[in-house]
Amino acid sequence: MPIPYRTGLHQIAPATYAYLQPNGSWGWSNAGLVVDGDEALLVDTLFTVALTRRMLDAVEQALPGARIRTVVNTHGDGDHWWGNQLLPDARIVASTAAAAEMRHAGPQPMLAALAAGGSDPGVRDLVELFAPFDFTDVTPTYPDVTFDGELELRAGSRTVRLLEVGPAHTEGDVLVHVPGDRVLFTGDILFVGGHPVVHSGPVSGWIRACDVILGLDVDHIVPGHGPVVGKPEVARFRDYLNRLRDHAVDTHRKGRTALEAAREFDHRGFEDLDDPGRLVLNIGAVYRELNGDGTPAELELMPQMSAIRPEGR
Ligand SMILES: [Zn+2]
Repeated sequence: MPIPYRTGLHQIAPATYAYLQPNGSWGWSNAGLVVDGDEALLVDTLFTVALTRRMLDAVEQALPGARIRTVVNTHGDGDHWWGNQLLPDARIVASTAAAAEMRHAGPQPMLAALAAGGSDPGVRDLVELFAPFDFTDVTPTYPDVTFDGELELRAGSRTVRLLEVGPAHTEGDVLVHVPGDRVLFTGDILFVGGHPVVHSGPVSGWIRACDVILGLDVDHIVPGHGPVVGKPEVARFRDYLNRLRDHAVDTHRKGRTALEAAREFDHRGFEDLDDPGRLVLNIGAVYRELNGDGTPAELELMPQMSAIRPEGR
């Protein structure tokens, strides 16, 4: 039976859970929980302290005896770790590359960038996107265990495998595989229902990460954003990334800006995806790969996202 896409804790397998936050757009991320007796492992905290507290309350209510001893942060975006401070007794695990990104990614730089945008209408749209979130009480709380490649953890007697597949979405993306339950938590290596955001790239690395997922023996896949799905959604997402890369390589050759290229994107088969403005960022990320000089910068592209409106809807 499909897992309903509703806010809260959902059982996916006998002792494996997903915490979902519709609608999955900016900042509305998912988390996961693997339990054995009184021991639990949490996959990601949420964007704010309040949202994370709400999730931990739901866990406490459903599983009163479970103590979260380990937190895995799948990558360095704030919506996957800014609630870490609520788990002071847990060890926090991330890839070395993700941990390095976190050191540069507290809420302050983002808030300052938004504030500096002043009256730019695109920046005003971004401020509106982040308006539901209060970051004032976030104390960045960093991983104490880092690794490269693969790491095997335990929740009680259960095995949880961490597979580093970045750089892709960010520099240090990690998949969390629960082989005993054939469940995978992808972090933001998978977006369902919306366009993804390519921060670091390379997109080719992200396509390879999709191949890694498709090669795993899993039935239930919990994306970083969106509803729980199976492998067909991963294959479709890989198709999106292939089209994105091919399109951006072509428009780069033609000298189009990222915004112009976003307007020319062929949406066929992907008309249902939310947040089409992210195409500007994603094409810009491919351009950065091709240019090799860091341009166009992501922060400069962000205000242009609002110029792209949904097609045919
Ligand atoms: Zn995210």
